[in-house]
Amino acid sequence: MDTQKLAQLLFPKILKTPDYYEALYPPRRLADGARVTRFAPSPTGFLHFGNLFTCLVSYKTAKSTDGVFYVRVEDTDQKRKVDGAIEVMLKGLSVYGITPDEGVLDEDEQFGAYGPYYQSERKIIYQTYAKSLVAQGLAYPCFMTAEELDDIRAQQENESIKGIWGLWAKHRDLSLEEIEANLAAGKPWTLRLKSPGTPEGKCYFDDMIKGKIEMPENVQDVVLLKSDGIPTYHFAHAIDDHLMRTTHVVRGDEWISSAPIHLQLFKLLGFKPPKYAHVAPIMKEENGGKRKLSKRKDPEAAVTYYAEEGFPSESVNEYMLTLANSNFEDWRRMNKEEALDKFPFNLKKMSVSGALFDMVKLTDVSKNVICKMPAAKVFDLSYAWAQEYCPALAALYEQDKARATAILNIDRENKKPRKDIAKWSDIPDYISYMYDETFVPCYDLTGNATPALAVKVLTNYLDAVNLNDTKEEWFDRIKGLCAGIGCTPNVKEYKQHPEAFDGHVGDVSTVIRVALTGRTNTPDLYEITRLLGEEAVKARLTAALAHYKEEN
Ligand code: GLU
Repeated sequence: MDTQKLAQLLFPKILKTPDYYEALYPPRRLADGARVTRFAPSPTGFLHFGNLFTCLVSYKTAKSTDGVFYVRVEDTDQKRKVDGAIEVMLKGLSVYGITPDEGVLDEDEQFGAYGPYYQSERKIIYQTYAKSLVAQGLAYPCFMTAEELDDIRAQQENESIKGIWGLWAKHRDLSLEEIEANLAAGKPWTLRLKSPGTPEGKCYFDDMIKGKIEMPENVQDVVLLKSDGIPTYHFAHAIDDHLMRTTHVVRGDEWISSAPIHLQLFKLLGFKPPKYAHVAPIMKEENGGKRKLSKRKDPEAAVTYYAEEGFPSESVNEYMLTLANSNFEDWRRMNKEEALDKFPFNLKKMSVSGALFDMVKLTDVSKNVICKMPAAKVFDLSYAWAQEYCPALAALYEQDKARATAILNIDRENKKPRKDIAKWSDIPDYISYMYDETFVPCYDLTGNATPALAVKVLTNYLDAVNLNDTKEEWFDRIKGLCAGIGCTPNVKEYKQHPEAFDGHVGDVSTVIRVALTGRTNTPDLYEITRLLGEEAVKARLTAALAHYKEEN
C-alpha cells in the first residue's frame, strides 16, 4: 500500500506538515518545574461543582509552580453547544478567583500564542496530523456503516474485548483501489487509528493522584476523525495538549479508562506524554453508602447553587481546599489569617477515591469565614446578593444602610465573633426582629422566666429603660431591677439558694430579650436595644407586658 498516496487522496487540501505546527508552537520558556495546566470544558452551559473542583485543582497545580493555566473550549460536538454557555462557565470560574492566563477569556475573546483555543477552529491542525499518521501507515479510513457497527456491538456482547480491533477491524487492510472505489462512490468514512496494541500488552503510567497504574494496552482502532472531519476527544486531546505544551493534564477520572488510548496516541504521534492527574468525582453519602454528586438529584451539584444561596466565594474556595488536600485544615489551624493562595497545594495529597461533599462542613467553614469579615464587607456582599436574589432584604437595607451595617456588626469585629451566618440567605431571618416589618413576636420563655415574673420585669423595665445608657449603665439598670422583684443580680447566689429567689439576672434579661426579639438566643442585647430605637423598644415591651398580663 502506498500510504503517501492514500494520505494525499484523503486529505488533498492539507498542504502543511506537523513540522510547521511544531515550529509555530514551540516548547514554552518557563522556569524549571513550572507546570502548564488547563481547563477544557465542553460548552454545555452547566458548571457542575465537580468541574469547578477539578478546575481549581488544575489552576492550583499551575499557580503553585508559577506556571500557566489556560482555558480551551472543547466544542467539537456542535450538537451539544449551547449559546452563551462559555460566558456562563467563565463567569462561574471567575467568581472563585480562577482567571486563566491564556486561552478563551470570554465568549469572543481568546488570548495567547498557543491558540486558537476553540477546538472548532483547529480542524486544519488535526487534519494535518491525521494526514501524517495515514502517510506513516498508522491510520486508515473506515467505511463501516452505523448498521454494521451496531451489528458488531451486538455480536460482541459476550466478548471481553469490545470495539473495532483484530478481525472486527474490517477495513484496516483495504487496498488502495478499494478505498478509491469507496471514495468515488461517495461513501462516508471515519479515520481510524491502526492500533499496534496486543491483548497481552500492558500500559503503565504514574498518575499524580492515583499513583502507579497498570492497564491492558489499547488494541482498538479508535476513531480519530469523525465522518465530518471533526476529531474525537482522544485525538484532539493528544494534539492540543501537545501543541499547547500542557505539562499536567488534570481531568476527571472517568477518563482514566481511556488513558491507554491516549498514551498510545502520544507515542505514535511522536509526542512526549503529559503527566496525568485524574481527579475522583465528589461523592455524597446516601443511605449509609456513597454515590457521585449528581446534577439530577443534588441542587448543590450546580455551581450556581452557591451564588443563589449566598455562600461567599471565599467560603466555597476554603471548603474546596478542605476537600482537595487532606492537610489543608491543619495548615489553616496554624495559619488562621493567611490568604488561601499561600497554601502549598499538592496533587499528592488529593483523595484517590473521591472526596465526600458535606453540607454541614461547608456551613461550618463558611461561618468561620464570615465571622472574620468586617461588617462593611458583610453588608456589601450580602447587599449585592440581596439585589439579585432577595429584593426584600435589599429593601430593608436601603431604609438605612448605616443602621443595617451596624446591625451586622453586633458581636462582630472582636476576638470571638459570633458565628450565626453561613450564607447571605441566613440574614433575613437573622436580622428579622431588627425591623418592624419582619419582626414576629413570640413570647415563649425559658429558665425561671414565667409569665408572672415577666409582668414584674416588664412593668419595671418600661419605667427604667434609657436608650442613652452606656453598656455598663444598661446592665446595672437590669441588675437594679432584680431586688424589687424577688430576683438576685448574682447568678452564683441564685445557684446556692434557689429557694430564696424567683430567678436571677439571666432570667430578667431573658424576659427583656424575648419581648424585644421574640427569641431566647440573640447577639448582644444592649446593642440590639440601642439599634431598635426608643419607639420600637417601648412598643415591644408594652405589647409583651399586655400579653403576659393576659396569660397570667
Ligand atoms: N471536554 C472534556 C470534558 O469536559 C475535557 C476533559 C479533559 O479535561 O481532558 O470532560
